[in-house]
Amino acid sequence: MRQRQVDPTTIHRVFPGLCSLLLASSCVTRPPEKLTRFEFSRPEMGLPFHIVLYAPDSSTAENAARAAFDRIKRLNDVLSDYDTDSELSRLSQTAGSGKAVPLSHDLWFVLQRSQKLARQTDGAFDVTVGPVVSLWRKARREKKLPDSTKLTEASRAVGYQKLRLDRRRHTGELRVPYMRLDLGAIAKGYALDEALKVLRARRLARALVSGGGDMAAGDPPPGKKGWRIEVASLDATNAPAARFVLLANAGLATSGDLFQRLEIDGKRYSHIVDPRTGIGLTDHSLVTVIARDCVTADSLATAVSVLGPEKGIRAIENTKGAAVRFVRMPAEEVQLSESSRFRKYYEPP
Ligand code: ADP
Ligand code: MG
Repeated sequence: MRQRQVDPTTIHRVFPGLCSLLLASSCVTRPPEKLTRFEFSRPEMGLPFHIVLYAPDSSTAENAARAAFDRIKRLNDVLSDYDTDSELSRLSQTAGSGKAVPLSHDLWFVLQRSQKLARQTDGAFDVTVGPVVSLWRKARREKKLPDSTKLTEASRAVGYQKLRLDRRRHTGELRVPYMRLDLGAIAKGYALDEALKVLRARRLARALVSGGGDMAAGDPPPGKKGWRIEVASLDATNAPAARFVLLANAGLATSGDLFQRLEIDGKRYSHIVDPRTGIGLTDHSLVTVIARDCVTADSLATAVSVLGPEKGIRAIENTKGAAVRFVRMPAEEVQLSESSRFRKYYEPP
């Protein structure tokens, strides 16, 4: 449901004759509602989430923000791989049992989107990467590379073809023992989109919902073309300057090893792994994707990080409405590449 503010002067200009035939009340509409900017924050999914919205009054704004945060909280109960009692974790616990498990609408949606992207990227994006990711999480805690035998063993339980989704019955089956699903690269994007939907349903479409650097943008603030967002840059001295984009009715997500990484002997291993090798990425990259919604941007940002600039940009060009900015420092030199659509989002100078 979207609020549409009809400008009465436009109606007069376009349909003067028709207007005089209509009841006066339908042409002389109320003056546009005065909207105030409100901001809210709440920790969800282990991260601070923020909402900026424009509303006519504070109680409308507060109630809507609470409902949006509550939606994120409920999604965490479905999609979290940290919570052992989430729907996702309970599905993972059936790995290798031969059972197909009925899935909720939310889990079904996220898993089928994940599988679609896995097929499109030839497994560069793969939510069955859980067993390998958990070895890398342990490695980061202990500041020690994962044991190579354990990595090889864990890799046997990885592979998107081992997750079977039944379209007719909406069930999921993990066909190999020790499989473990990890939605860390897509769940946040979906949660942000869903929170924005809650606000829209309450006719508060001029809103921006963000969490951990990713965001879902609705209609722009009053009188503006879009939400002004700073695109993060690499934490390197010779990195290109940060830029601003204008975002409306779109999602933006960033993937990189800025905050979560393991450094051993001068080599940095990202928390993003190549599912085909089981190894954390080492090219020190920062990928920003803009797409029609945040679930697409979030998952693509991770996928493109694994694919690298050449294949990654090609994948983005083939995705309707998507754009990417790829900053990378495999050695000393910083490389910047962008897809063709990215520049149209930059704030005009
Ligand atoms: P962040 O969580 O920092 O926003 P991403 O959206 O890129 O970053 O998600 C990274 C997370 O996704 C990892 O922490 C891990 O849980 C999971 N992951 C890692 N590599 C892959 C991959 N190749 N495909 C799918 N998920 C991955
Ligand atoms: Mg991501």
